[in-house]
Amino acid sequence: MIPGHSDIMDLVKKGATLEVQEKILELREAALRAQEENLELKTKLAHLEEMLLLKNKAIWKKPSYWLDNDGVMDGPFCQKCYDSLQKLIRLQDGKNDCWNCRECKSHYTGPNYVEPRFERGRDAFY
Ligand SMILES: [Zn+2]
Repeated sequence: MIPGHSDIMDLVKKGATLEVQEKILELREAALRAQEENLELKTKLAHLEEMLLLKNKAIWKKPSYWLDNDGVMDGPFCQKCYDSLQKLIRLQDGKNDCWNCRECKSHYTGPNYVEPRFERGRDAFY
């Protein structure tokens, strides 16, 4: 329990210096705990605000998410990472609309993906 002003003043009036010092230490500890808790709450709030902002901007376009930045589409972002961790992880590569998440190692193919065709004696071409 946090010592109150009157508790400390009563001790001061009695001349109980050692007890007053203990109460002041208790107050300092309580202030530090409150400061830590405040920082923790601010961090949580900032994270929630960020999530809310993203939720309003994130658009699901199968198989991935895109961000609508005032009409300019940014992406694609990993569906698995966003749905499970609310993290926007930019998908990489993109050749032939094949995308990879470097975070969760998911692999996606977009709507413009073309099945590679093989010819005898030659590598796949698109
Ligand atoms: Zn991912």
